Amino acid sequence: MTHILIVEDEPRIVTFLEKGLHSNGFVTTTVLDGAAAVPMALEGSFDLMILDLGLPDKDGLTVLEEIRGQGAQLPVLILTARDDIQDKVTGFETGADDYLTKPFRFEELLVRIRARLRPTVSKTAQTADLTLRHGNITLDLRTHKVKLADRPVELSAREFTMLEVFLRHPGQVVSREQLLNSVWGYDYDPGSNVVDVYVGYLRKKVGSEAIETVRGLGYRWKA
Ligand code: CA
Repeated sequence: MTHILIVEDEPRIVTFLEKGLHSNGFVTTTVLDGAAAVPMALEGSFDLMILDLGLPDKDGLTVLEEIRGQGAQLPVLILTARDDIQDKVTGFETGADDYLTKPFRFEELLVRIRARLRPTVSKTAQTADLTLRHGNITLDLRTHKVKLADRPVELSAREFTMLEVFLRHPGQVVSREQLLNSVWGYDYDPGSNVVDVYVGYLRKKVGSEAIETVRGLGYRWKA
């Protein structure tokens, strides 16, 4: 079980992160300010920390400096609204492992988290992890190539991400909200029908029978 420490003070982003990470099988603990983050990070029970820079009472860079100064080794992924290059440089000098500028898509974050969590696994394991297969459909997460019964299928970036979400949860109901979070990030209009539109696109490309509508709940990839 992978335990991620979220240090972020903006409720909307906390919710977005927690939902996305939980639906991908991570366990999370959230702290809302910098002062509380330091002892948590030093405790040693977390596999990775997501750290916002603009925090109340102790900013993210100070947190990072303190925990690195006290020997904390966990990977730290900085999340910030500032896309100032100076902040990036300072962040890496202070000991950050990666950097993501808001707004970001959840899938982008997920790729970076996964990359940080297994720097030492063998190449074979990595290749296996980078391919998703279900029935006669194959997704290559590295090249973004999709094959249906060995024939290539052209998908847009959003269609690809949506398909990835389905293939990670075959046979399970995936809600519209989950799809919005994973594919569109947190900057979306919850009232829009964009999910249904994209499910329609995907059905045309991979076969309409592959994705079932579960009335009132969402969609399900046929197991
Ligand atoms: Ca903040």
